[in-house]
Amino acid sequence: MRRVLVLNASYQPLNLVNVKRAVVLVLKNKAEVIEELDACLRSEHMAFPYPTVIRLVYYVNVPYRAASLSRKAVFVRDGYTCQYCGARAESIDHVIPRSRGGKHVWENVVAACRKCNARKMNRLPSEAGLKLARKPAEPHDHIWIFSQAGDIHPSWEPYLETALVG
Ligand SMILES: [Zn+2]
Repeated sequence: MRRVLVLNASYQPLNLVNVKRAVVLVLKNKAEVIEELDACLRSEHMAFPYPTVIRLVYYVNVPYRAASLSRKAVFVRDGYTCQYCGARAESIDHVIPRSRGGKHVWENVVAACRKCNARKMNRLPSEAGLKLARKPAEPHDHIWIFSQAGDIHPSWEPYLETALVG
């Protein structure tokens, strides 16, 4: 089932729910439909716009969530691109190798292709003649939306971008 992006009253992305749950929230007047597909959900008694983005009518206070560091989340942050050569990434590299005290933290992990990973081994990028495309950093805390969702629906993008900038 297609997922629906739920926005806080402030338009900040909150989470993803399935379509059924989204419709229940709207029917209970807890949320409004912001973006919809050019399609209808039909039941015996009614037709309902097919939502892709809904917004809660009340503000939910969300505690800060640190983006959890997972293999998938690193790939998403780095656009599935090797941070050394730009090829498609297939592995995760510790910039400062773990064997040399490098930590498993956002600032020390990057997506890398197998070739660069093999070339680098237990060396620093400079020692292996590799250069990082950009300095790795902890992503905005809503990267979980990207790593949780199989696909990002185009109608979500403006809301996710706002959050990225904000
Ligand atoms: Zn590479």
